[in-house]
Amino acid sequence: MSNSLKDTLERADKDGVKYILTISTEDKSFNKILDIVTKHKNVYGTYGIHPHEAKSHKNVKTLDIIKKTSLSDKIIGIGETGLDFYYNHSDKKDQINCFEEHICAAQENKMPLIVHTRSAEKETIEILNKNLRKRNFKILIHCFTGTREFAFKLLNLGAYISASGIITFKKSLELANTFKDLPNERILVETDAPYLAPVPLRGKPNEPSFIIHTVRFLSELKKLSFDEFSKITTQNFFKLFGELN
Ligand SMILES: [Zn+2]
Repeated sequence: MSNSLKDTLERADKDGVKYILTISTEDKSFNKILDIVTKHKNVYGTYGIHPHEAKSHKNVKTLDIIKKTSLSDKIIGIGETGLDFYYNHSDKKDQINCFEEHICAAQENKMPLIVHTRSAEKETIEILNKNLRKRNFKILIHCFTGTREFAFKLLNLGAYISASGIITFKKSLELANTFKDLPNERILVETDAPYLAPVPLRGKPNEPSFIIHTVRFLSELKKLSFDEFSKITTQNFFKLFGELN
């Protein structure tokens, strides 16, 4: 299987993946994202600093984030950002500061905030809640792997919750049970490529076309057809990100 971007996008297209969102995690790779979204009609992007990278991006402030998102009308979200107290690759304080700069940018330019959260449920809720009280913003929790209680607290904050290939793993029974009870109109799907390829492709480098396995798993969980469920998550994407141009 060829790893070229062109072939990867062709495989996605063949499997019915019409739109792709590629996520920024650090400043230095953003130019690559701009290049990709400029060259490929159905690929959109975001700008953001992953919590792992917070320590080396202390200079990235709200205004910088807003400026970067305005460089192309195909940059449609802010993130990923958030808190990762599992790995703590950056100090908690730096992660929180960086997260709040992103939140202010999302409040200002009205783009959805794409949140990474791991081993930081209490702090994530506190920070989102505190800032939502000041000014509203749209939230997408990416690659959700948290507790059921956390999921329902996030729903109360108006968040959308995205499932990755992890949900198809055997050990993810509890996670699958949580998703079973989440309202369909708040669920999105993602690959988190190149990581977390879903069963039956687990262990392979993940890519957009593989999303069909995650969608199939969720549609069975929800007792809907593949087409019904994929229509719902597509609509949810547009509700959150707006119509694409
Ligand atoms: Zn993440």
